[in-house]
This record gives sequence, structure tokens and C-alpha cells, in this order.
Amino acid sequence: MKPTLAAALAGVAACLLVAPAEGQAPERLSADPAITAMVRDASQRIGGAAAALGYDKHVVFLRAIAIESAAPRGLGTMSRIGVARLDAALVRSAGLTRDDVAWVVAHEFAHFILDHGARRALVAQAHDGGTPERSAANRAFELEADRLGLRLARAAGYAFDPQGFFSRLRGGRLAGDTSNHPADALRIEAMQAAARGPG
Ligand SMILES: [Zn+2]
Repeated sequence: MKPTLAAALAGVAACLLVAPAEGQAPERLSADPAITAMVRDASQRIGGAAAALGYDKHVVFLRAIAIESAAPRGLGTMSRIGVARLDAALVRSAGLTRDDVAWVVAHEFAHFILDHGARRALVAQAHDGGTPERSAANRAFELEADRLGLRLARAAGYAFDPQGFFSRLRGGRLAGDTSNHPADALRIEAMQAAARGPG
């Protein structure tokens, strides 16, 4: 019997989950029914929206799962093979809504669609590992993923509110920029501007 694509992808994800890279904290699939359902739903709907917007060749690979990790690396992360992981403990503690979760999935999918993994490696190579150039590129990639993520989430029928999301995530106090991420205020402003119209 020919294995289905879904079964093959499930196998890939399981491999990653049982065999984390060296030095990486162990993680497992979340058993939280509410969060698992939100992530599964978002994965399907955002994937559908991405296909409808012409990103169908990427959608074959895209999938989102909820995980529990001994040492969370972030709210959402994207692997090289298109599997987005959402940290269930962080979703729970911030009290994120289904629209928030959907946008995080869409943001991670956008990193894959926009080929940020490979582009990040090229920047590092071009600048001989130069830290300022890498940080600038990372921040630019985040804004790109924010904007495409917003577009995908809205196309999938989610009502994402950037201001409310960052406020919930940070417990009411927005964060400034870091080596990898622009300041929350800039991200909110860029998404609000993108939502208002083209340009
Ligand atoms: Zn990101």
C-alpha cells in the first residue's frame, strides 16, 4: 500500500520529536486538547488560504503542531522542512486566543514560504558571520513574516489584532528590539499599516 502524504509527514514530525538535535531540550507533542485543536484548525485553514493565494507548492510541506518543551525556544519556531511548532505552555500562560494562535501559525508558515532559512544562511555567508548584518536581516525577515502572516490569517477568516496579541504575550508591557526581532511597537505599526491597504 502506498503511504499517504499525511502519514509521511506525520512520520517526519515524529522523528523530529523523538530525536531532537544534539544539545536541544527534549520535546513532545502537546496533549492539551484545546490548544491542539486550535493549532490543527489553524494549520488546515492557513494552509488552505496560502494555497488560494498561490503558495500551493509550499503548502504540501506546511504543517503546525503544538509541543511541550523542557526549555521553550520561543512561542513559535519553523523547521527547515515546513513543520511549525507552537509552544503550548507559552500559549496557555499568555492566554492567547484562537486568532492569536492562527496568526502565529501563519507567521511561521510565512517564514517557510519566503525562504527565510536559506536567506538567513546566505546573509551569514556573505558577511562572514557579521553580527550587525545578520541582526538587520533577521529583523527585516520578521517584518516580512508578520505582514504575510497577517494576510494569510485574514484570508483564512481569522480576526487578528496585533496590539492585543503583543499586549497579551508580554503581560501588558511591549518589548523593545532585540538582535533577532524588531520592537513590538514597530511590528504592530507595520501590520496595522499593511491592514489598512496596499503600499
Ligand atoms: Zn518569526
